[in-house]
Amino acid sequence: MDLIIKGSYFIAAVLFIIGLKQMSSPATARRGIIWAGVGMVLATLVTFVHPEVKHNTGWILLAMAISGGIAWWSGKKVAMTDMPQMIAIYNGMGGGSAAAIAAVVLVKYEAMPLTIQIMAVLGALIGTIDFSGSAVAYAKLQGLIKKNFYINNQQMINLGLFVATVALGCWIALSGTQYSGFALFLFFLLAFVFGILMTLPIGGADMPVVISLFNALTGLAVGLEGYVLGNPAMMIAGIVVGAAGTLLTQLMAKAMNRPISNVLFKKFGVSGETTDDDIEGSLKAIEASDVAAMMGFADKVIIVPGYGMAVAQAQHKIWELAKLLRERDVDVKFAIHPVAGRMPGHMNVLLAEAGVPYDIIYDLDEINEEFATANVALVIGANDVVNPVARSNPDSPIYGMPILNADKAENVIVIKRGKGAGFSGIENHLFYQDNTRMLYGDAQEMGSQLISAIKEF
Ligand code: NAP
Repeated sequence: MDLIIKGSYFIAAVLFIIGLKQMSSPATARRGIIWAGVGMVLATLVTFVHPEVKHNTGWILLAMAISGGIAWWSGKKVAMTDMPQMIAIYNGMGGGSAAAIAAVVLVKYEAMPLTIQIMAVLGALIGTIDFSGSAVAYAKLQGLIKKNFYINNQQMINLGLFVATVALGCWIALSGTQYSGFALFLFFLLAFVFGILMTLPIGGADMPVVISLFNALTGLAVGLEGYVLGNPAMMIAGIVVGAAGTLLTQLMAKAMNRPISNVLFKKFGVSGETTDDDIEGSLKAIEASDVAAMMGFADKVIIVPGYGMAVAQAQHKIWELAKLLRERDVDVKFAIHPVAGRMPGHMNVLLAEAGVPYDIIYDLDEINEEFATANVALVIGANDVVNPVARSNPDSPIYGMPILNADKAENVIVIKRGKGAGFSGIENHLFYQDNTRMLYGDAQEMGSQLISAIKEF
């Protein structure tokens, strides 16, 4: 029996790793999810033959049926734009589960090796912060909490709370079985409150970075509790999630050129004063029929999708438009900025959903040189990721963020509804350039108008 359990955990761990590897490319990501899912089902099923899991089987099955049912239903109906909050809540559940395991272990007051006790307390700390912090992240992204709460000396209060929580945790970890139930309760409560206070001031649009960080923390907490339980599948799954989450957090912070400390502890974007005095030129509107003519007779068109395309759900129309252009022998490419939209891979997923082939979707590094040879850069609901000020103005909040060189194209067409700023809240110099024209309107509506106009040729 032991061999079956250990063998199954080993196979599950291998499946997790294969799954994660496949998730790194859009072409294989769907398969990767299935591989990892099979691993998870195997690890879950084999737990039932574990000699220690012989009580409460009915309760466990009931809990699995209810939570599995909710997950199935919510996973089916969630919109792509709501994916970040879905991930936030699942992260939180993972962290909460790890904390619950730690609570069960610690509340037994049984003597255990020092390393195990330290791991249990550390997992409890991280898991609880992750649980309450993710719940706040979910509430913010879902619009349940609309304000960013700042209190005076917030950072000092947070620091004090964190130090107190860690100190109490250290005492619990090092005191053998001497800790009281009250100390344990207080420890979990402090960690819970810290998670809330840490996340409350962070702006909604920064949440994806925070969620990714919480994702890494979930992995760490699960890995630590896996060690406590002596469960290798949990350890490996936790380590894999922790490593992937850490890399993703770093990638996002790098793509926004903001250290993670800046995301966690600073307000982002302009507040009151703007830095737009040096803007030259004016905004010049254009009609869809003129844009259609410009693109229909072009050799190369590069499409830059952004957050506005996601909000408008315009990806299907844009792909239909791209297909019409390709039929006219126009070379159409999609340029994806690593943080276009509101979560990593946001644009890739939407374009994949619309059926855009992967071989015409390019990352920033692959396509940036090509803008100079494009007749048209069609910017759809993107703003910050094409703002040249990131290259030129050291005072700008997005200075240093790598951007797509749309401004280098012969003509730039920008689809957006009006003068709305992007996530950073600053003006975009690209919109005022001589070679830029603004096609004002909802991205989906403008997509339809461009399609009709091209069909009329
Ligand atoms: P953005 O800078 O937020 O700009 C989006 C633009 O879309 C707005 O200027 C808005 O202008 C327009 N828009 C909104 N709804 C629209 C609609 N229905 N139809 C047409 N246009 C619409 O977007 P982005 O260029 O994709 O940049 C992403 C930003 O998010 C970056 O600053 C990035 O750092 C940040 N961020 C991204 C991530 C990530 O992981 N992807 C994570 C955290 C932060 P109008 O209101 O005038 O229409």
